[in-house]
Amino acid sequence: MDRGLRGKAALVCASSKGLGRGCALALAREGVDLVLVARTADTLAATAAAIRQETGATVIEIAADITTEAGRAQALDAARHLRWRQPAAYDIVVTNAGGPPAGDFRDFDRAAWLKAVEANMLTPIALIQATVDGMAGRGWGRIVNITSSSVKSPISSLSLSNGARSGLTGFVAGVAREVAGQGVTINNLLPGAFATDRLLSSFAPRAAKAGVDVEEVARQRRAAIPAGRFGEAAEFGATCAFLCSVQAAYITGQNVLIDGGAYPGTF
Ligand code: NAP
Repeated sequence: MDRGLRGKAALVCASSKGLGRGCALALAREGVDLVLVARTADTLAATAAAIRQETGATVIEIAADITTEAGRAQALDAARHLRWRQPAAYDIVVTNAGGPPAGDFRDFDRAAWLKAVEANMLTPIALIQATVDGMAGRGWGRIVNITSSSVKSPISSLSLSNGARSGLTGFVAGVAREVAGQGVTINNLLPGAFATDRLLSSFAPRAAKAGVDVEEVARQRRAAIPAGRFGEAAEFGATCAFLCSVQAAYITGQNVLIDGGAYPGTF
């Protein structure tokens, strides 16, 4: 199926690994040219090279921290390097950043809260502010925010995520309706448990605390998911590419859960 994305320009944040990389690769396979952002230059360069080699897409690398004003300025400016573009003139923006640390909510001080709000609420809001009017003016745009299943079903050890991402979710619900008449959709993708470095690296401390081995923690976690397995970044990316497609033009302001059935509610 032609998703109508050939020649579009996308900014994909936090995309050298994991879910962001999955989105970047899926978009490149649809003929989208990319600006990728991550902090670690060599991992980013390896990802950019792999995507170029597989898809032939133009891939610009920006080694920067997307949660800083300077990093966002670099990422927005890089649209100039894609064909005939002006700064910030992206057709597609995928917002993403590292998730906040787990822990007891009693231990998180003001600095920890500000960091989480900066990364998982204010950064995507700033990127939306910088790009959405240009999309609306051109009559076409797609914004996909990578959030978390914690927005729909709180995870007690991730209070920073539960709180900060819910703020973004409320903001998006309003803005999506404001620009829906101008060809722009804004949706949130809510991952459950995906087999990325972030998830897999969380098993070792849990195993140590419980006095079991890491594979036992992974087994218990998989057993709690009706699908009986973790999600793959490629599956996540395919859903992102669909939300960006011309076929998804009537889907906006939604929170799309991808969790193998883990959320237990009817709605
Ligand atoms: P991951 O595999 O650890 O990958 C994170 C990616 O983001 C890397 O490319 C990393 O590169 C980049 N990154 C992190 N902080 C950044 C920053 N400040 N500026 C620019 N790039 C940054 O993580 P993931 O599992 O894909 O998670 C992505 C998001 O989804 C996170 O917010 C996470 O909390 C959320 N999430 C994940 C799951 C899951 O099961 N995997 C579930 C729910 C929610 P550098 O470190 O080099 O910058």
